[in-house]
This record gives sequence, C-alpha cells and structure tokens, in this order.
Amino acid sequence: MRWQELWSALRQVTSRERQFGCTDGSVVGGYAAHGRMLLKHLRACLNPDAAAWGAKLAIWESRLADYQRLSTGERQALLEQFDQLLTEAELRTGLFHDPPVKEAEPTIQPRPLKKVNDGDVPIQFMRGVGPQRAGRLKKLGIETVADLLWHLPARYVDRSSLSLVASVQSPGDYGVAGIIRSQQHRPTRPGLIIYRAQLDDGTGILPLIWFNRPHLHRTFPPGTAVVVFGKAEYRGDSLELHVEDMELQGEARQGIVPVYPATEGLPQRQLQQLCQQALANYGERLRDAVPASVQTQLGLMTIAEAMRCVHLPTSLAEAEAGRRRLAFTEVFLLQMAWQMVRRRRGSSGTGVMHQSAVRELAALWQLLPYPLTEAQQRVIREISQDMERATPMNRLLQGDVGAGKTVVAASVAVKAVASGFQAAFMAPTEILAEQHAINWQRLLAPMGIPVGHLSGGMTKRRKEELLKALQDGSVSIVVGTHALLQQHVVFRRLGLVIIDEQHRFGVRQRATLWGKGQLPDLLVMTATPIPRTLAMTLYGDLDVSVLDQRPPGRQPIKTAHVSSKAWPRIEQLIRREIAQGGRAYVVCPAIEENEELDIAAVEQRFKVLSEDVFPDLAVGMLHGKLKKEAKAAAMEAFAQGKTPVLVATTVVEVGIDVPEATVMVIEDAQRFGLAQLHQLRGRVGRGQSPSYCVLVADKLGDEGRQRMQAMVRTDDGFVLAEEDLKLRGPGEMIGTKQSGIPAFKVADLERDSSLITQAREWAVRYLMNDPHLQAADSRVLADKIRTMFAGLDIF
Ligand code: ADP
Ligand code: MG
Repeated sequence: MRWQELWSALRQVTSRERQFGCTDGSVVGGYAAHGRMLLKHLRACLNPDAAAWGAKLAIWESRLADYQRLSTGERQALLEQFDQLLTEAELRTGLFHDPPVKEAEPTIQPRPLKKVNDGDVPIQFMRGVGPQRAGRLKKLGIETVADLLWHLPARYVDRSSLSLVASVQSPGDYGVAGIIRSQQHRPTRPGLIIYRAQLDDGTGILPLIWFNRPHLHRTFPPGTAVVVFGKAEYRGDSLELHVEDMELQGEARQGIVPVYPATEGLPQRQLQQLCQQALANYGERLRDAVPASVQTQLGLMTIAEAMRCVHLPTSLAEAEAGRRRLAFTEVFLLQMAWQMVRRRRGSSGTGVMHQSAVRELAALWQLLPYPLTEAQQRVIREISQDMERATPMNRLLQGDVGAGKTVVAASVAVKAVASGFQAAFMAPTEILAEQHAINWQRLLAPMGIPVGHLSGGMTKRRKEELLKALQDGSVSIVVGTHALLQQHVVFRRLGLVIIDEQHRFGVRQRATLWGKGQLPDLLVMTATPIPRTLAMTLYGDLDVSVLDQRPPGRQPIKTAHVSSKAWPRIEQLIRREIAQGGRAYVVCPAIEENEELDIAAVEQRFKVLSEDVFPDLAVGMLHGKLKKEAKAAAMEAFAQGKTPVLVATTVVEVGIDVPEATVMVIEDAQRFGLAQLHQLRGRVGRGQSPSYCVLVADKLGDEGRQRMQAMVRTDDGFVLAEEDLKLRGPGEMIGTKQSGIPAFKVADLERDSSLITQAREWAVRYLMNDPHLQAADSRVLADKIRTMFAGLDIF
C-alpha cells in the first residue's frame, strides 16, 4: 500500500476513534492494534534522512500497545497528543516515500475490497468461463466463484421418477422417457422459431414443443431414445409438453434438479454445470462468517456441506436444510453488525446524561387538556431512564397512528432542555414540520421554552437569526425538515435528536443529524409499526418502545369498501357530518412516481367536487406543488372549518392532526399500500365523534381485494403490518434500499423469523467473549462485517 493511503487510513481511524469516545472500537479488530500496524508500515516508508521521526513513530507504536489498559480520560488525552503529532508530520514534506514495489503489499485493514467474496476467485478463473460468459454471469450479479455458489436455486424440480406418456393426464411437471418419432419446425415471426416433436414410449404419443433451440432439433433426430423434462400444458383440449430439458437416455440427470434464476444466453444446464464444478473445486475453500465455535455449539453443518445440499440435493428436505443453514450465516452477519454498532456506541460512556427534570415535566403535563395514557407514561419512563444513562440512547418508538407520540416527544424534549441541552425534531414534510412547530410553540410557550422552526421557505434574515440562536444556544428546541441536515446548522449543545416517521429517512440522514451533537440521545419514531423480526433486521441497533394504547374516548373508525357508484351516498355522509361540525378529506389516486399526474387528478377532482357535487360548500385543495404559504393556508382553512371539504394528494398522509375531521374518502384505494391506507385513515378518528373511512375502489385484483378486506376487518396497525408483510414482502414494505442495509439473498423474514431471533442471541453471546473480534475464530466474520457493512460505520 502507498504511504499516502496508510497515512489517511491512520488519520481517519484516529479521528473516528475520538469521535466514538475512545472505546478502541473505531475499527473492527480494535483501534490500537490497527493503529500500531499502520504505524509500523509507515515507518518502513520513512526517508533515510528522517531518522528522528522513525523514533517518534516507534514510541507511539509502543504507546498504543498500552492503549487498552488506559482509562477513557487517559485515552482521550493520549489521542489528542497523537493528533497533534500527526498534524505536525503533515506540515513537513518529504518524510515518506513509497517502498519499491517488489515488496509484498502489507495487508492493511480496512481493505478496499469491492465486496465480500470468500472464494475471492474471479469467475473467469473457472474452466469454461471466458469473457462472454463472465459478462452474462455478471448480469446475475456473479463476479466470483463465491457469488456463483451463493446464487441459490429459485426452486427445484423433482425428477426422481419418470412418468409414462399414458399417465400425463393433467398439467404439471413431468419427466418422460421415449423415442423421438417425428419433428417439425417453423419460423413464425422474426426471432421466433417453434419446434415440435412427438415422443413415443409404447403407452402413447406425447406432443413436445420448444422455442428457439435448434440444437435440440439437431441432436435428437427421429429415432433417438431420450428423456424429456418439462411442463405439460393444455393446447386446446390436449396436453403438450413444454420442453425444459432433453437428454440422451442413460445420460439424463435425475433426482432433485435445481432451477436457477437465469438470464439470456445462460441456460439452466450451464448454470447447473458451473455450480457443480464450483462446488467440487472450491466448495471446501469457502470461508464461513459463522465462527467455528458457534457452529459446533449449534450443531450446524459446514458451509461447504450446506452448499452441496442446495446445489446437489438428494431430497427437497435436504435442500431446505441447506438453505436455512446459509440463511443463518446471512442473518448472523447482520445481527453481529448491529450488535457491534450497539456495543461501540454503548461502551463509549461519554454520552449525554440528562437529568430527571421531574418538576418541569409535571409542569408540562399540567398544561395538557388531558391526562396521559398509561402507555404514554410507561414509554416516557422508558425513554427517560435511557436518557439519564451515560451511554447514548438509541431508541425506536413505535406507536400506531393517533396513539399520541407527539406529547411523548415533547415531554422528552422538555427533559433535555431542563437538563441544559438542545433538542432537534426532524419531520419528513414541510406541512408536518410546520404543524409540529406551531403545536410545540403553543404548548411550550407558557413554560418559557423557545421553539424554532427551520423551513425551506424562510427569508434569509430570519433563517440567519435562527441559525445564530441555535449556535449560541438561545433557542433550545428546533423543529424542521431535511433542512436541519444542512451543514450550516450548528448547535451549541445538542443533547437529543428526535426523528418523526423515521422510515422516511435513511440511515445516513439519521447519522447526519445525530452527528451535530456530542453523542446525543436519539429517539426515532414511526407510525408504521412493523413486526418484531423485521424491526430486528432493519433497526437491530435500536431499543424499542411500543405505544400500544390509544387515548381513551375515541370512537372506532367505521371503514367501508365501496365502488364509485356509491358516490351519492358518500356525498350524503359528507353533508351530514359537516352539518354536525365535522370535516371531510377526499384523497385522490396516487399515480406511481408521477407527482404531476397526481396533481392533475386532484385539480380535476377539485373542480368536479366544488362545482358539481358541493356547489354550496367551500372546498379546499392541497397538494405538494403548492407554495408553502398556500399549503399552510389550505390546512388552516380546513382546520378552522372555513373549507370543510379538503381534496388532497397523499401529502395529508403523515401526521396531520385535525380532530374535527370525521370523514376520510380514499379514491382509487387499490392504488395505495396497506401502510399508506392505514396512515390516511389515521387522519380521522382523532376527536370524540365517530368517524368514517370510505375506500372507493372499482377494479380489484386479488391482492387489492385482500388489502381492502384487511382494512375493513381491523384498524390495528400492528395486525395490518403483519398482513402487509405477507402480501408484499419486506423489501417493498419498508423500502430496504433506502434503509442502507444490504438485502438478504437467502433469508426470508417470514420463513426464517426464528433464525433471526436465534442469530441475535448468538451474536450477543459471541461478542461477550470477543468484543472486538480479535480472536482467530473471528477473522472471517470481522472481514465480512467490515466490507459488507461499511455503510454503517458512520453511525
Ligand atoms: P401520533 O402518535 O399519530 O403522532 P398524535 O401525537 O398526533 O398521534 O396524537 C393524536 C391526537 O391525540 C392529538 O390530537 C393529541 O392531542 C391527542 N392525544 C394525545 N394523547 C392523548 C391523551 N392521553 N388523551 C387524549 N388525547 C390525547
Ligand atoms: Mg405523529
């Protein structure tokens, strides 16, 4: 490695180590050990005339050797000195040179590996893989032998028994042995040639069909004895076999045959062969992230054996056992990474210690027009205790829509302020931030706590004033959107970060706001409750509090699914509710990824509703492209009842709180996901009157129907979340891409949920014995975590 790289690695880990509170945890494997190694290699790069520096670096090497024995305070002092030395060195030029290349490159960590690969062997090294095939494999994400082996079959076909032609009576997978009797082929349109043949086994004649594979036609002329595998499907009244595979009798592969996700120019047959070859030549060389001791204690098969099971199973049960074993490796890695993140933060011990603030909290609760629910009290207690500890808090607050998370957030913010710190509250949309700002200002003014609101549309002067006030500490709470993340937002003493609707933000954004304080406490909130295993997967670094009780006196929301023919009745309902002092939202279709079309739809609905349906009522309109003031005005007019009907896009989805609203009409409801429908429904039922949610949907597919039924059946967010997970799968539900966590290749959140729990327990246990993954047994694990979860390092 070149000396500049060594140098910048040293600077980087050192500053990270200081940032993380000198826990020796800034690098997997330990900061001190890592730093010493870097120093040693740097010494080898010193110029001959810089002997004095050689001595200095050697001294520091030995100081770092003692690092683990020092107290946190001593470590901090030491690293401050070290930093000074490094800065001093940077001011000199010509200290280092690159050693001649013939020397073997020292293995320095973190290594700039592209990705994790145990085989580490580029796929081109395999016999039979030239540039063209390598290119095709790359399309499947396969660049190394290990990638290939981790490319698991999507399904298996059971070819352990063959059928007689006479017994092919219904559609399905079959394998049949017989003699090709005749062949035909005919080009239909450019690029498509249909081949047909007839297979005779003495019990009958089976028509075969395949497309665009001339070599089958050539290799198996009439008279050849073959075994054919494929899917029988109806063509008119009779069955024909769609050929997947055809082989000479005696050469056919029988038993359980894997079917891989394939790509053009890379047929099953080749993938199967490649996998077998890789298994034979490289299987034993695969390195497993699960340490040997854990494997032994859990009685796991080796990773090589697991690979054999999935690629060459003797039974379906064996294939599944292999898959689960590989899934365990995968979830174990992730849980391990999360536990490392937790430990690193937790062991720093230099976080903010908030005070109990009993008096201030009592004063705040006095100001509320209602008593806190028991759940609210419990959750506030949990968060408070966490905030009082020296270890930084990292907590997720899950609570269904309308459960009353805001007052929990306000309470803990007051606690932070009473302890002499600032609190920042980040919301995902301007409207929501504004609403929170207004509410918080109103609530906290009597307590003399100034609340700032940072928004995109502020005048330059007011913005500068606010920024200055945050920097000098005269404003103690700030509410805002992503605007808070900007570099020029600087706090004097940020002690608490709260993120609302946190699934709308990525890991990095969380980290950015968090990084504006000195290890502040972090509370993230979500109204999209998620099942436990999903929470463990996505937020494994967080403790979880659950607000599982809604404020009393709420009437349940009546939910109905109707067709658009029911609009006359919907109109009546809206009129009746408004006459009784209520308000109604009409949410227009979400047209995927196209805000312009959404807005067009809203404008059109607005025209119809205001001119034709409710000419006698005032109707308002709200969508994302309105100017900030116009949005605020529309919300205000609705809240005050000046425009009791509000036609809107999903901008009203999140968090909007107008207790008088009692009707939520969602048009084209099938276009929305369950979580979104539930959020929208949560905009009503916030006051004391009974409320209604009307789902208007005409054309329903299966899944759409299930969603509507789920909505009508329950208004429990947790139940709906489970349902959503089943219907849509976890990726879509949460948008894992955004979350910054690599997706599972093998593990399945639902099927493997017990593995996830187990992996977490073992990760905790393992780290107790080897907290920095320094043992020989941890080598592979440490390596993989470092490369796969590089993105989590920042946090
Ligand atoms: P969410 O959890 O969805 O953010 P909010 O914090 O917006 O919910 O609360 C929903 C509504 O319930 C608000 O109008 C709020 O004033 C009210 N509320 C909160 N806590 C209570 C309580 N303990 N008793 C009665 N009403 C409450
Ligand atoms: Mg809320």
